[in-house]
Amino acid sequence: MKFLPMSDERKNDFQLSKQKLILPKDQHNWIRPVVQTGFVLFSIFLGLQFHSFVLSLSGPIHEPVSTRPAAVEAYLPISSLMSLVYFIKTGILNLIHPAGLVIFTLTLVLALSVRRGFCSWVCPIGTAEEWVHKIGKKVFGRNLPMPKWLDMVLRLLKYTLLSFFVYHIFLMPITALREFIYGPYNRVADIKMYLLFSNISTTALTIIGILVLLSMLFKNFLCRYLCPYGALLGLFSILSPARIRRNVDNCISCGRCKMACPNQIDVDKMVRVTSMECTACFSCIGACKVEGAIGFSLLRKKIGISLVAYAVIVTMAFFFSAQIAQTFDYWQSETSLHLYRSLYNEVAGIRHP
Ligand code: SF4
Ligand code: SF4
Repeated sequence: MKFLPMSDERKNDFQLSKQKLILPKDQHNWIRPVVQTGFVLFSIFLGLQFHSFVLSLSGPIHEPVSTRPAAVEAYLPISSLMSLVYFIKTGILNLIHPAGLVIFTLTLVLALSVRRGFCSWVCPIGTAEEWVHKIGKKVFGRNLPMPKWLDMVLRLLKYTLLSFFVYHIFLMPITALREFIYGPYNRVADIKMYLLFSNISTTALTIIGILVLLSMLFKNFLCRYLCPYGALLGLFSILSPARIRRNVDNCISCGRCKMACPNQIDVDKMVRVTSMECTACFSCIGACKVEGAIGFSLLRKKIGISLVAYAVIVTMAFFFSAQIAQTFDYWQSETSLHLYRSLYNEVAGIRHP
């Protein structure tokens, strides 16, 4: 085989790409897993606190009831959406699940400003999903790619679910919204959810088992195809000025970013990642070995946001929102412990209105 001599131009390109290929930049890749684990541990702590609250409700009347952790209301997004719609329609901020409304509104504001980081940094279900697909990769040797056409069809599922909720909630008359929000079902929605998981049925266990298996086989199956909350945040994130941006002048089109993306986004073909599926996980940036080829920034690259800065923004946003809400007395439910106790005694008979 005969090799042709390299032209000067080609030599320059080669030198340039050699200069660009600098060392692993992964030194901060541990930050997101640490933040995720922190939120998972916090959720477990909330779960244990809520467990002792529920147990104390069934105790003797003269014994004090344990503290109810208001942050569990983060697990009531539909109730929070109803409260938000009620606020939009009436201007009234109800006090049934105020912490839920604060957290829900914050996730929307975050999606509007710095995209769907809630899904890949905060949500414990998103984290569990990520752990499950990593386990799946170890067990089966790899995660299966979803065919593009099927991926598009399945992604419609979460938007269909979202449309169903949003359509019905927005169309509800104010009186019906008020009745639901202040009614007994909504007041004990957190306890209902607790009882659903603490006395889990075989059907629910089977469904969870199927979802776990699918998530082991396909990356982010639950979040990508079935979560209406993620769909809502995705829609809000379209309006965000923050984006993953690829610098085509520096990029050497190696495709590592695309390979690293858990959401099957063709990052290596885009200048700006505008997809609603981008969860700002920074995996593409962490995988890229070329200085200045890819980054996350606001307003046409004017304000770059590093992985560390993003971690601080997301965690501090949750911490300070809770502090501010408590300062303004908008955190604890107005439902008295006495009312909680009496509703708990008849919780089995309280049905969805
Ligand atoms: S941006 Fe993507 S394709 Fe370009 S160099 Fe980095 S990893 Fe490779
Ligand atoms: S494009 Fe990058 S930041 Fe967005 S989901 Fe894919 S890997 Fe994560």
